[in-house]
Amino acid sequence: MTTLDDLRAGLAGAVLTAADPEWDDARLFHSGIGEPEVIVRPAGVDDVRAAVAHAARAGLPVTVRGGGHSAWGSVPGGLTIDLGALRDIAVDGTRVRVGGGATWGEVAAALAPRGLGISSGDTASVGVGGLTLGGGIGWMVRAWGLAADQLVGAQLVTSAGDVVEVSDDSAPELMWALRGGGGNFGVVTRFDFEAHRLPGVVWIELTLSGDARQTLRAMRDILRDAPRELTVTYMDVPPMDPSAPPGASLTACWLGDEQAARQLLAPVLSLPGVTEMAFQTVSYPEILGDMPPFDPERPAPGFVGGNSLMPELGDDTIDRLTAFREAQPASVLFLRSLGGAYGDVASDATAFAAREATWFVMAGAFEGPHVDDAERARVAADWAAIAREGVGVYGNFLNSTDPALAATLYPATTMARLERVKRAWDPENVFRRNHNVRPA
Ligand SMILES: Cc1cc2nc3c(=O)[nH]c(=O)nc-3n(C[C@H](O)[C@H](O)[C@H](O)COP(=O)(O)OP(=O)(O)OC[C@H]3O[C@@H](n4cnc5c(N)ncnc54)[C@H](O)[C@@H]3O)c2cc1C
Repeated sequence: MTTLDDLRAGLAGAVLTAADPEWDDARLFHSGIGEPEVIVRPAGVDDVRAAVAHAARAGLPVTVRGGGHSAWGSVPGGLTIDLGALRDIAVDGTRVRVGGGATWGEVAAALAPRGLGISSGDTASVGVGGLTLGGGIGWMVRAWGLAADQLVGAQLVTSAGDVVEVSDDSAPELMWALRGGGGNFGVVTRFDFEAHRLPGVVWIELTLSGDARQTLRAMRDILRDAPRELTVTYMDVPPMDPSAPPGASLTACWLGDEQAARQLLAPVLSLPGVTEMAFQTVSYPEILGDMPPFDPERPAPGFVGGNSLMPELGDDTIDRLTAFREAQPASVLFLRSLGGAYGDVASDATAFAAREATWFVMAGAFEGPHVDDAERARVAADWAAIAREGVGVYGNFLNSTDPALAATLYPATTMARLERVKRAWDPENVFRRNHNVRPA
């Protein structure tokens, strides 16, 4: 068995424990603070191999840190591989090779001067790693699909310490699994994407003080027939939500000219209580927002609720969602349009199966004085009733680190196929700090 000293001696990057002065900085990640036994900061692929080999030999569970936005970094113990130094971005025509620790803000900034873009999320500091491996829903999801849909290859360090170049030709089942199956199959040290032409986007922000049911129906009706170049989100948040100003808002991204966007959105723009905050052509990096990183002095409140990928947004669902929001002042409602290119992909073509969904819906309430035990139970039951209308759950937006939740993310046939891929590439389940697929 190698000791930590052996590991240190063989590594170009750092190996840190609680005895090191940098420890507290090293265990802070964007969404929390970790309590691992060891943190390895690889300087390159060989360091990743050595870290994985050490963890496997020592029986330490591995936490892979990309952008650090998920809750997995807070699971105590084990060995954290912090990919923060692997963030090179190389562009060759429309082929983009991105280091496993890069963020989407860095990718957008590198591509914008070339008039290119990749469908990502909506936040600059989110990691390419976790977002892509779990799917990736953002402003281009209707135009180009999920972030995972643009993934054409990857360099992967496996649980055996091998470096594998993955593509549809070289390892089709593994490639299939990387498009939505999460971090179950190894450490991705490089992602290869195919980018799209993106000269600019029309960015629209509306605040809404009118009837929420009316607005949601108008928005839903627009999206039923809208070109895929239009993607919208609707948000209604309470004051304690750190992610946005309180109140209801509709944000839209349009790949076209401003006049066409006005025509498309006219049924919402003409509603009472709609105020235009922005309606302008901007570059893609400008529309990626951000959230302040975790502050140990002010931890974010807990959340009861969940998300659902919905095939339809019927009038009944809209009524139930607005009633849900009205019943609890600390609740949040968040909808994103899907369909378009997202729905062009067959359900079995990637590990992200819920392609018949046309809306992503997230709702819940922040824990605090407003939410005692009885209210928590009521909120959970009301949300569960709404979520039953969905055809899936999006793992990347779950805050829980309960590995059993994986069973709710994948249909049985997808899960069975993922389990076979897992058995082939990680039979000992070294990579289990994720929505865990167990080797079949
Ligand atoms: C403020 C905020 C905004 C968000 N916005 C969006 C959004 O617009 N759209 C969306 O779809 N999601 C969004 N998310 C959710 C986000 O996709 C997930 O939290 C995702 O897991 C973050 O990836 P990460 O690399 O930053 O996180 P990490 O915590 O570093 O990684 C999450 C998991 O992914 C795996 N992983 C990460 N990198 C690698 C790698 N290189 N190789 C192997 N495994 C890896 C590991 O299993 C790891 O535990 C948002 C989250 C936050 C907190």
